[in-house]
Amino acid sequence: MADKKIYEKPIITKHQSGMINKFGSSPITTPKTEIDGVPVKDLVEQFGSPVFVMSEKQIRNNLKNAVRIFKTRYPKVQFAWSYKTNYLNAICSVYHQEGSWAEVVSGFEYEKARNLGVDGKHIIFNGPDKSEEDLTRAIKEKAKIHIDHADELYKIIELCDKLNLKADVAIRVNMDTGIYPKWDRFGFNYENGEAWQALKRIVISDKLNLIGLHTHIGTYMMTADAYRVAANKLVKLAKNLNDQFDIKLDYIDLGGGFASKNTLIGQYLPAEEVVPTMEQFADAITSEMLEFASTPDEMPTLILETGRALIDDAGYLITKVLATKRLSTGKRSIVIDAGVNLLFTSFWYKHKILPAQQSSVQSENATIYGPLCMNIDVIRDDITLPALKKDDLLVIHYVGAYEVTQWMQFITLRPNVVMVMEDGSVEIIRDKEVVEDIVRKERLPEKLKKFKL
Ligand SMILES: *Cc1c(COP(=O)(O)O)cnc(C)c1O
Repeated sequence: MADKKIYEKPIITKHQSGMINKFGSSPITTPKTEIDGVPVKDLVEQFGSPVFVMSEKQIRNNLKNAVRIFKTRYPKVQFAWSYKTNYLNAICSVYHQEGSWAEVVSGFEYEKARNLGVDGKHIIFNGPDKSEEDLTRAIKEKAKIHIDHADELYKIIELCDKLNLKADVAIRVNMDTGIYPKWDRFGFNYENGEAWQALKRIVISDKLNLIGLHTHIGTYMMTADAYRVAANKLVKLAKNLNDQFDIKLDYIDLGGGFASKNTLIGQYLPAEEVVPTMEQFADAITSEMLEFASTPDEMPTLILETGRALIDDAGYLITKVLATKRLSTGKRSIVIDAGVNLLFTSFWYKHKILPAQQSSVQSENATIYGPLCMNIDVIRDDITLPALKKDDLLVIHYVGAYEVTQWMQFITLRPNVVMVMEDGSVEIIRDKEVVEDIVRKERLPEKLKKFKL
């Protein structure tokens, strides 16, 4: 006969959250009730749901912090804001107020920067798609043109001849940094000598000012060492230019790509624990840069085009529970009012998702679905959350990068984007769309205007 269990009188004990007790560890989630001091509930009342919320304070702090980390290690540092990461005017302006230049990868982004008041010489023009019109404008406005391929190089020489102007150029270099698959589709290859050939071609042209070297080795890089390799190779090229042609470059641009604190799908440990710190990235890069020259005068400026790592944690998406239901398997599912149309990155990130109100202690696994009538609209396959009911709010965090540039107008309209200002006020920085915004571009041929059903 099995031993009889000892009788325990039922008692009520208070358990501390986060501590192991006789029921195991309690999966209590601390709700996210406010953003920079503004109640989440108020934001939804005022601006509707869903709503993207950007924190001005966080953006400024992140950039100031990064500048400090790099400048304490290397004397000449310049950040350039990667427009495609988030090109809302209000966002770009915060970066420009903090001293960042603009890094653009299309004629559209170039124009956006110019319209905001950034002059050509503070624009870095990257990317494989620069039209003749774009290049002409960039040459005239003295933008820093980072050449992507030989066809572009020859086009620029041709345009400079025609315009009788000199262009300020750098080349983008791709290389083996120990990260695979290699990012070799952009720029000129280092290992096979293509980059050096392109540089020689530029040096002998009297139409081109070679002012820098550029690389952007990948995105969401989880190792700082790849940057050490990249910086080392660019420094070698710069030294060769100096030795053979007596060319002193203005800058070396290490691009962007530092991982943000978002956890990738399939990654077991949370990103906070595995992603290198800004200090580690800075150490890797600046230690190689310091090899270049011994006096600050001879040192090229270090340019950084960091995108996601500077802004991801400054962005939130508040969303409302539309319904909760059980799948046929018995699994809990939650339908929210924001889908993959707004959260493009949920295809590869496990975003932080927190309730915005006090909720039950009991948690349960659930799948979170967006509102789209489409099977792929899954915001999270599996997440442990406390009980939620219709109209409860959730806050999705680390959505400052790439969401409001990669979102799509599909099935429904895009919501307000607001910014919590440093003084605690809240401003709309992009109005929610209305049907008229979308159909304005459409044309209905005359013969299709009438029908009878
Ligand atoms: C996208 C991009 C960046 C920014 O990349 P992050 O991964 O967001 O830091 C910087 N430079 C170039 C050329 C880019 O294409």
